[in-house]
This record gives sequence, C-alpha cells and structure tokens, in this order.
Amino acid sequence: MKERSDSLTLKGLIAAQGRLPAAHPMFSTLLSKQQSIEAGIGGEQRVAEVLQKYRFPFKNNIFHDLSLSSDTYFQMDHFFKTPHFGVIFETKNLAGSLEFRENPPQLVQKREDGQIKYYESPVVQLERNLELMSAWLSQRDIDLPLYGAIVLAYPKQHVEIPPANTKVLFPNLIPPFIKSLPQEGKGLDPSVFQRLSKELLKSHRTYIPKPICESYQIPVGDIQPGVRCAACGKIGMTKLPRTWHCPSCKVNNHLAHQAALVEWFLVVKSSITNRECREFLGVDIHTATRILQSMPLQKIGTFRNRSYILDFKRFPFK
Ligand SMILES: [Zn+2]
Repeated sequence: MKERSDSLTLKGLIAAQGRLPAAHPMFSTLLSKQQSIEAGIGGEQRVAEVLQKYRFPFKNNIFHDLSLSSDTYFQMDHFFKTPHFGVIFETKNLAGSLEFRENPPQLVQKREDGQIKYYESPVVQLERNLELMSAWLSQRDIDLPLYGAIVLAYPKQHVEIPPANTKVLFPNLIPPFIKSLPQEGKGLDPSVFQRLSKELLKSHRTYIPKPICESYQIPVGDIQPGVRCAACGKIGMTKLPRTWHCPSCKVNNHLAHQAALVEWFLVVKSSITNRECREFLGVDIHTATRILQSMPLQKIGTFRNRSYILDFKRFPFK
C-alpha cells in the first residue's frame, strides 16, 4: 500500500558531490555514504519483491519505508499486517560474517578483507520499534499483536552468532515465517483493518535530512553555485526572460531553478533568503523574489530578515 520513497539523503549526497571538486577532502566520504545507502535500498527492494510476489492465504497489506511518530519519531523498513497480527521487518545489508552480541548489545561485522566493524544492534532497533508501534496502535484503540524479525538481504551474509531471542531470516524465508505466526481470536473487524491502513498512510512523514553541509561540516563557500542543466548535467544555465538557457547544449528549460533550489535545501541550508537565492541562482532581486514566491515555500521571519523553507510534503512537485 505504500512504496519506498526516494531517499532525500541519497539525493542530497549525489547533489553535493556534483557541486564539489573531486579533490575536496569530503568527496570520498560522501561517495562511500552514497554507496552504503544504495546497498541498503537494494536490500529493502529484495525484501519488498519477496513480500509482493507471494500470495498469502489471508488478507494482508504491506507498507515499505514507513516513518511514524508516537512518543518519538520512528522508522520501519517494512510493516506487514493481517487482521490477526502485524510484523515489523528490520533489514540489514552487510557483507561478511555477523555476530549479534548481547551484553552489551552490538552487531559485529567481520568482512572478507579482515576489517571488523561495530554497529548498533538491530535487535535493539527492532525492540524499540515494536514498543513504539505498540504505543502508536494503542493511541488509536487498535488491539493487534505485533511480531518482528531481522532480515539479512545481502546474499553474502553469514551469521556466526545469531541473537538469542530474535528471528533472523533471509528474504526467501519471510513467507513461511509469516505463515507460522498464530492467528488467534477473530482478529480486527474489516472496518478497523481498513482504518488502520488509512491511519498509517496519514501519519507517515517524509524524513527530511539535515543539509549535507551541516551534517559533514562542509563550508558553504566550497559548494559551487548555479543552475544545473537537466539535459547535459552542466552547472551554469543563464536566465533569459521566462526561461533558462544552457550555453553548453543550447537547451531551454523554464523550470530549471526548481531543481537548483531543491539542491540548495538538501545540500547547503534548510532555509534561504532572497540574497542567498540571488547568489546561488545568479539572478537579480526581482527575479529572486518572483522565483521564491512561485515555489511551495513557507515564509519565516519578518520582512527585513525573511527567509523561506521548502515544504517537502509537496515534493517532488511538477
Ligand atoms: Zn545543457
């Protein structure tokens, strides 16, 4: 019922690399973060495919990449529900051999090249999500038993030490796991089951990451300003009356400033002033005003120090 949204973090990382020189000290950090997010998305897609292809012999819905809040904001990779139960799947995508340590809880990855890495235990993440989801359901007067499992989506994963009390599955083991769960009582009424779907979609919030410059302490001055041409990828479109022109490939695009401003919000700062807009797009004060007023932006501050923030709920806009 809900597909993965494009990861805004990923968009921001790619856009930042496109505006930094390849020799920049943070370039390789951004690239490796991009690759790990892409691997994660690949893993979640494998899980999504298994869940979507399989025909379960009972009513069910699947939600991918769901961000909700109850006492605090929480994010679930996959939520599967039937009238009798809900299942939260936490997907992990790490190569090599894995140890789920209990005391203290930790995930230890030994890679084939001998490198050892330590992560927060997905068991802890899953238990926290189960608790928060159960609070979210009871706030809505919905009584649904919850289960959880960790899915290892990367084909070359080997579990050296599994967690003591949590199920760890490969993607093809998800359907039999779901079918093995108890279906006690009469389950949710069809009307409540439907209300639950509606409430999940209504409560979902797109996760808005911090701008890349803020997250990675990159000076704003290192970021190349300008409007990028969607056709040839070069930065440096020039403003003509009613449109933008690319001097490299000669293409015109009257909406090119929109993508450039989205890049600003993902890469540089979560707000923009008229002056910042002028400098980033290379336009005069009147054009900047017109552009800022034409976009789905929210005004903050008074006239003299007014700035604008992007309404990501209306993103991506046409
Ligand atoms: Zn071009």
